[in-house]
Amino acid sequence: MISTYEGFFLNLCVLISSLFVYKQLARSISKSCQNNYSLVKSGILSGLLGIILMHFSIVTGLNSFIDLRVIPLMLTVLYGGWRATFVTSVIIIIFRFMIDINIYSLSNVIFILLSWIFFYYCSKKIKNRWTSVVVMISLSNIVYTLLAIIVQSITGINYILLLDYWIISILGGLVAVYIMEYLTKSELLFKQHKDFAFTDPLTGLNNVRSFDRAFNQAKSRQDKSVAIMILDIDRFKQVNDTYGHSEGDVVLRKLAAILKMSQGPEDIVSRNGGEEFSVLIHNCTKAEAYEKAESLRKIVENSFFVIKDGTVSIHITISIGITIYSETTKEIDHLYTHADQALYAAKKSGRNKVHFYSEDDQLS
Ligand code: GH3
Ligand code: MG
Ligand code: MG
Repeated sequence: MISTYEGFFLNLCVLISSLFVYKQLARSISKSCQNNYSLVKSGILSGLLGIILMHFSIVTGLNSFIDLRVIPLMLTVLYGGWRATFVTSVIIIIFRFMIDINIYSLSNVIFILLSWIFFYYCSKKIKNRWTSVVVMISLSNIVYTLLAIIVQSITGINYILLLDYWIISILGGLVAVYIMEYLTKSELLFKQHKDFAFTDPLTGLNNVRSFDRAFNQAKSRQDKSVAIMILDIDRFKQVNDTYGHSEGDVVLRKLAAILKMSQGPEDIVSRNGGEEFSVLIHNCTKAEAYEKAESLRKIVENSFFVIKDGTVSIHITISIGITIYSETTKEIDHLYTHADQALYAAKKSGRNKVHFYSEDDQLS
């Protein structure tokens, strides 16, 4: 038989360790990306956490238990929204009824519902998270204390136990929110670093590392019909020399936006360096790939590139080298080199051209 303190300590340990698992499983719990599925999922996970905590509860009387079941409910109010909280509440209430149906399980319904209302109110009204947590748990504890006084008056009220509950629940609430904040921040930082590592900072397109990853995946899958187009701005040095490097950057960003807009969702658009971009196209024929490149060339040729804070509008052109595995390039490993050779041929033949790779390009 464990003591009350040991029971509370066990509850706290279960809560802390479960939060790590819970966060792993409910990655989409943040309020910024709520959809019905992720909300229900986080609600179910919180409900399960409530059940686990109830399993490790301290039996205080014949039919009454105390534990930290209210904390998962508070977490869903803070991090999951009302739908997740609804699911959590229902799970906790049903599970309590499955143990037994009596005055204690009925008082649990009132406890959960009133706590929910207080949590919701405090989360909206109190801006400081830590103050909010202390007030939330305190209000929920007042409900708990009043219900305990009413329900346990028959068997005798254990005031020491109630005091312990107050201390441990507030402590547990603060620890749980600290862990949630810590895990959420770490997750965000990790995602940001991942994005930085694979994104070109100037244009927001994939960078060369990201391109390599996509290309290697296509190679390892032995994809049929993979085309690469490499495109390069014609005489871009002149743009920089005439208007300055920062205006050149404006042009690069606008070109990136055009590229992103004009390509399909499956196409991998990257900035491979300087004023050179690439598009990796899956599942297309030679004619379709050529059509894509030619249409892109025309769009760029006909676009206005507004620079100098909207006072100057210029035109640029691009040259595109393109090849497709396995129609024009027989070995997928040579795809990038062949597209580059085709680009060189497009430049040599006068620029503002699309050139499809042929074996003659190797000789030139
Ligand atoms: P070509 O038609 O042969 O491609 O001529 P080009 O002038 O475009 O080619 P060149 O290789 O001579 O010059 C490329 C220019 O691209 C020179 C360099 O300053 C510019 N450039 C490369 N990276 C950036 C960048 O990040 N921002 C800006 N503004 N310019 C860049
Ligand atoms: Mg160029
Ligand atoms: Mg270049």
